[in-house]
Amino acid sequence: MKMTLRLCLVAVAALSAACQRTPPELQAVVDAADAMGGRQKLLELKTLTMEGEGDAPNVGQNTMPDSELPNWKVTEFKRTIDVPNHRMRTQQLRTAQFLFANANTQRQDQRLDGDVAFNAGPDGNPSRASDTVAKDRRMELLQHPVVIVLAALDETGTKLSGFRSAGGQNIVEVETAKGEHLTLAFDALTKLPSRLTSMSDNANLGDVAIDTTFLDYEPVSGVKLPRRITTKIDRFLQFDLRIAKNTVNGDAGDLAAPAGVQNAPAPAAAPIVVTAQPVAKGIWWLAGSGNHRSVVFEFNDHLVLYEVPLNEARSKAVIDKARTLSPKPLTHVIVSHHHFDHSGGIRVAVAEGLTVITHKDAIPFFKDLLARKHSIVPDELSKTPKDAKFEPVDDTVTLKDKAMEVQLYHLRSNPREGTNLFAYIPRDRILVQADLYDSTWQFHHWGQNVIANIEQIRKLKVDKQVPVHGEIEPYAVMVKKMRAAP
Ligand SMILES: [Zn+2]
Repeated sequence: MKMTLRLCLVAVAALSAACQRTPPELQAVVDAADAMGGRQKLLELKTLTMEGEGDAPNVGQNTMPDSELPNWKVTEFKRTIDVPNHRMRTQQLRTAQFLFANANTQRQDQRLDGDVAFNAGPDGNPSRASDTVAKDRRMELLQHPVVIVLAALDETGTKLSGFRSAGGQNIVEVETAKGEHLTLAFDALTKLPSRLTSMSDNANLGDVAIDTTFLDYEPVSGVKLPRRITTKIDRFLQFDLRIAKNTVNGDAGDLAAPAGVQNAPAPAAAPIVVTAQPVAKGIWWLAGSGNHRSVVFEFNDHLVLYEVPLNEARSKAVIDKARTLSPKPLTHVIVSHHHFDHSGGIRVAVAEGLTVITHKDAIPFFKDLLARKHSIVPDELSKTPKDAKFEPVDDTVTLKDKAMEVQLYHLRSNPREGTNLFAYIPRDRILVQADLYDSTWQFHHWGQNVIANIEQIRKLKVDKQVPVHGEIEPYAVMVKKMRAAP
């Protein structure tokens, strides 16, 4: 009897010693929960509401590759999180602080219910968003210290590993039940979550870190919550949120997806279609799906493409289509400017052996894009590396042989486009352009600058414009529309 009791006591002592040997990963998360108000308090939370304002820069749309990013000013920001049910609603008004060709204020109402993302349109009717949007929004949901700490504490599905200390931070690797990998850092002194990092693929930048920092914690109804959350993608600021008011367990309304949305299929990505429309002898307009078009010029013994837009998939389809138009080899691509939606195909163009003709000031930036790592979603250039060949354009260059003449001009003194090259074909009086004008734009803030470039600076006689965005139109129509809605 006595013996058994003693064994029991030994067993209890051993167990409690084991308890004290909590893995350091879990200990860091438990310490964070304690610092934020206690594990039990967090587990009992129903809703969190953040209200404030912020800045959301437009990555990949600056005037010069290294100049300041154009900014969306975000006001009336309100994010409500239904903590136990993994639901989230974000409402905001964003106002362009830059010259924008469409409505410069946009009201947004974006929701997530588990794996279902949906948006409320201007009429208030909800419509389901794609699975990609749902995945991004789920990541946004995790970018809150309470949500990520609760996910890390979920012993049924989450794996913690890799505890380490560096630079005053304790760092833990988190793999959620849904398979998301995140690196979570805690301030070594306060124990509060300080930073959350995940890796993602970007069409232009390749492997990127999405880095969120939690700053300026304040106590609210017994829970410590940040008053500032900033998110960066690679070196670019994506969102700087300044929270004026945190609310714990406020009325969130019904955040569940309506049955109509739950039962609707998630919209799939539209298939890529590239059509080829002849516009003059040896000139084709490559349109099809989307609003990013390209143009092919047929020279005496080779073809030249104008524009490899968006991403590898679109640009590869465009390159393949161009190669069906003539037995002559496609040898060069003119990249109109450095904006992300216009240069997303530069890597596949180089992988396909094309020489890049572009403005000289865009080349250092393009060299950086070509050197970046694409290991998360390997692309053609990462699988078959090739050296890039560039032909820089300063103010103007003429590509000419007995079959074709294409004059390239730098768009001078444009407030939005610092590296833009437009093309002019004197034989047909055709203008080929990207972002100078789009027949679908509401406003033409830089119309005067475009007209000055074409008519006064370059003294060109244009009959027809063949665009990257919008429809082919007579030049007179373009000028009329630009003058009517400056
Ligand atoms: Zn554009």
